[in-house]
Amino acid sequence: MTTKPIPRERIAGGYSRGQRLVETASVFAFFAVECLMAWRLTGVAAAPWLLPVGLGAVVLSALFADLISATVHWGCDTWGSVDTPLLGRVFIRQFREHHVDADEINRHDFVETNGTNAGLALLPLAVTYSLPLDLAHPTVLAWGLQLGGMGTAFFVTFTSQAHKWAHAPSVPPAVALLQRVRLVLSRDHHSVHHVAPHLHNYAITGGWIDHALERVDAFRRLERLITRVTGVEPRAHGP
Ligand SMILES: [Zn+2]
Ligand SMILES: [Zn+2]
Repeated sequence: MTTKPIPRERIAGGYSRGQRLVETASVFAFFAVECLMAWRLTGVAAAPWLLPVGLGAVVLSALFADLISATVHWGCDTWGSVDTPLLGRVFIRQFREHHVDADEINRHDFVETNGTNAGLALLPLAVTYSLPLDLAHPTVLAWGLQLGGMGTAFFVTFTSQAHKWAHAPSVPPAVALLQRVRLVLSRDHHSVHHVAPHLHNYAITGGWIDHALERVDAFRRLERLITRVTGVEPRAHGP
């Protein structure tokens, strides 16, 4: 395995005006669509199971988003480089830059922090909206999928904000409380990832799924499998 340090100027400063415009539009679109879909659900016919099923779906969606965050983070830390077509500038750059300068995230405003994920979250929202739902006669499955899909979109969007809070020198008291009770990614938990060569605690939505992933050594096993199949070594372009 080769590990070459990456000069910071190679990965910083790749935030273009076009990307900024797309991210701003994504943030507005995400909040508009999520609110409209939530409003649509208020017209559902009452049933005693709506609340427990809805809550269960939201909890599962949070864990699913945490798993997505861990997998995407691991993928961007482990494979390719800032020069990888399509993914390099937008995704891989952000993760590699973050290892070189962890405080950089604190200089991102709301749009730069959340824009990419808000854009990605439009996909589960679109899929969820297209699923069949009869508001007059809702089924457990249809209702659970609506709440689960909207929850996934919400937690995917919320991921970078949670990550930023885990690095912020100070956070609002309510956020500090949520971090203490582990409902939001805590500084302690995430700091484990920042110990080079950055091989643990990849989840950045809440870090809830990390324990299970570490227990089964999920990402090292996956790396060995990928190397066996493709011949490509993990972290060949540096940590
Ligand atoms: Zn990382
Ligand atoms: Zn971090």
